[in-house]
Amino acid sequence: MDYQAAISKIYNEIKNIEDSGKVATYIPELAGIDPNKFGVHLTTLEDKHFSMGDSDEKFSIQSIAKVLSLTLAYNLEEDNLWKRMGVEPSGAPFNSLTLLEYNNGVPRNPMINSGAIVVCDILINHLKNPKQELIEFIRHVSGNSEISYSERISKSEKSVGYRNASLIHLMKAYDNIHNDIDEVLDLYFSLCSIEMTCKELSKTFLYLAGYGVCPYTENRVVSASKSKRINAIMQLCGMYDEAGEFSFRTGLPGKSGVGGGIVAVLPNHYSIAVWSPKLNPKGNSFKGMEFLERFTTETESSVF
Ligand code: GLU
Repeated sequence: MDYQAAISKIYNEIKNIEDSGKVATYIPELAGIDPNKFGVHLTTLEDKHFSMGDSDEKFSIQSIAKVLSLTLAYNLEEDNLWKRMGVEPSGAPFNSLTLLEYNNGVPRNPMINSGAIVVCDILINHLKNPKQELIEFIRHVSGNSEISYSERISKSEKSVGYRNASLIHLMKAYDNIHNDIDEVLDLYFSLCSIEMTCKELSKTFLYLAGYGVCPYTENRVVSASKSKRINAIMQLCGMYDEAGEFSFRTGLPGKSGVGGGIVAVLPNHYSIAVWSPKLNPKGNSFKGMEFLERFTTETESSVF
């Protein structure tokens, strides 16, 4: 498969199309990003690399990091995790309070904010130094010791984090948060502040293409069964309340973030990361969605 030819062709087709999306501005640090950034990187299980555009520039991966915290929490908590949250698509915005109230403080899934906040609460239960151990786990998965939190972005989000504060208070009222609220929120904001390039992101997610094993380090990150389940959760819940549309158009499990990144995985083949900061009304990268739809169509690569 000539991935580079497909990436170059589609990148050039999409680069200058009318982009009706808008950069996320509710986190001050994200508001200043150049809206025209556009990068793509694909890594295969054989460690072959194909890329285009701003693929070596770091950006805020935001909610994409929720897959990594889920992976660690799943290893630590096993199936007890599902006593604290569901695995159903939310069909509602990622920070919905209504949905959480309706479900008595039990998040619909670990990909929305409330679910990721409970995951952080679980990590605090298990780990002596959660912030340090979480980033070390992510470095291990990505094979990159340089990955770190951005103090600048986490501070910026904390300064306006009223909705996430509301979510955690509501869950505390339902006894679904067991640790100190500020400590849990601090870990959550740090998680969301991680920056990676498209290349780093696609390499990091390769374990989900490798049935739980990261092929270039040969480290088993999770069991094959957990890898299957995490991919299933991404397929159904990874794209806010547009997971159906993404599945329909792209046919791959994927996760997006409000920084404009999307990562998608084709088990047994590759992991691909796209970054373009302008978001559609559902909060997904406009060009990222467009790129991945055309890419999976052109290369006939999909799980279906
Ligand atoms: N840190 C962001 C928030 O909590 C994450 C949103 C996202 O990327 O989905 O609002």
